[in-house]
Amino acid sequence: MREKDLNALVLECLSELKDQDIAPGEVSEWKVNKRAGTRWGRCIRNADETFTIEIAQRLLTDERISDKACKETIIHELLHTCKGCMKHTGSWKMYATQMNVAYGYNIKRTTSGSEKGVEDHEVTPLPVKHIFVCKNCGAVIYRKRESRFTRHYRRYACARCKASAWSKIK
Ligand SMILES: [Zn+2]
Ligand SMILES: [Zn+2]
Repeated sequence: MREKDLNALVLECLSELKDQDIAPGEVSEWKVNKRAGTRWGRCIRNADETFTIEIAQRLLTDERISDKACKETIIHELLHTCKGCMKHTGSWKMYATQMNVAYGYNIKRTTSGSEKGVEDHEVTPLPVKHIFVCKNCGAVIYRKRESRFTRHYRRYACARCKASAWSKIK
């Protein structure tokens, strides 16, 4: 499994921001949040006016998440370090739009609220990765993650008709 290089991606993002004449504030710390939590990223304004940015580890380890999607979160958080950008309105929104137009990103504000100096983002639900259909009765099973069933579905009987006739259609 290939883990994304956070440092390299951050440098790319900083260079792209610079090319757009957008000046982020000083990030004193980048943290990788290992907890399987509900946020992709978080920007915290420290007492000394520097910022701590947290990035969900899943963004770096999940192969389904592209470098581009990861950079969208990094830039989203970096934009919060710009002057007057802790909220998803005004300058933040303007810069996000500018980056979206310049690089084809899809940097968006999210539904969750902002707090003073701290804001967070909801993680979108995992997409369905596997779909199985019972060839005997037509029952359908959707799975978002790997499991014993997704690996060995041929060994499993259908709960509805008891046949062992699962066919993987995705
Ligand atoms: Zn935000
Ligand atoms: Zn069945």
